[in-house]
Amino acid sequence: MSAIDTLPPLREVIASHGLSARKSLGQNFLLDLNLTAKIARSAGDLGECDVLEIGPGPGGLTRGLLAEGARHVLAIEKDARCLPALNEIAAAYPGRLTVIEGDALRIDPLEHLTPPIRVAANLPYNVGTELLVRWLTPDKWPPFWTSLTLMFQREVAERIVAQPGSKAYGRLAILAQWRSNARIVMNLPPQAFTPPPKVSSAVVHLTALPEPRYPANPKLLEKVVAMAFNQRRKMLRAALKGLAPDIEDRLIAAGIAPTDRAETVSLEKFCALARSLEG
Ligand code: SAM
Repeated sequence: MSAIDTLPPLREVIASHGLSARKSLGQNFLLDLNLTAKIARSAGDLGECDVLEIGPGPGGLTRGLLAEGARHVLAIEKDARCLPALNEIAAAYPGRLTVIEGDALRIDPLEHLTPPIRVAANLPYNVGTELLVRWLTPDKWPPFWTSLTLMFQREVAERIVAQPGSKAYGRLAILAQWRSNARIVMNLPPQAFTPPPKVSSAVVHLTALPEPRYPANPKLLEKVVAMAFNQRRKMLRAALKGLAPDIEDRLIAAGIAPTDRAETVSLEKFCALARSLEG
């Protein structure tokens, strides 16, 4: 395998900066730079883009993104111990890497980024899911990003791309597929990480659609879907009865049988139901 840059191998970086992995920060590092370069390539053409990377850690994916030609990378890392290693990468790629120390859930990165913007991250599961939902539910669409390339537990990745009728189908699938194209682009076994996590992982690539696939009020759609899947075993006439006194009529108007359960209803029909509840 060829080296992607002239910086030291990640094992050396981790040893020299004392970056023992911390469970509390969900630290499972990718040390194979050919693999991180491959993930960077799956994010699309980076040459004309700024990339927002959340959770760079010792910088494996960061180096992949820069080696693959990202115009500028803004990396937000919560663990201050990683900053010296990240600063060494910044020195090797003058003017192309900005590092911010902090919690990505509390930082607004937009003032440091110039469109078009792609997002790439290998994050702890809970932070990743929370950020994904935020990125999928802004007030305005199209969003600030053109694509998201995100590592998840395989089970979460499957929930994002799930189709009606499957166990994995739910709120994440609806939110993701309503306004983006989402697909799994890579599967990774636990051994790809140091230390290895308990479960397999997958990279999901989402590209923002210029406008939602079907018209619907975002807040109403989110509300309907949250209620429908909160009690996914119930018939929809029962699960959604708090929404409107004539919910059965509205379900029928949207082409949904009142006895259907949420997991069999298509995105298109959920959008029709949200429209029928408007006003
Ligand atoms: N990107 C590196 C890689 O692929 O090897 C590290 C991945 S590790 C799974 C997750 C990284 O996210 C860690 O470096 C951790 O410190 C960082 N992190 C965890 N929570 C964070 C948060 N709320 N904001 C920013 N970074 C966070």
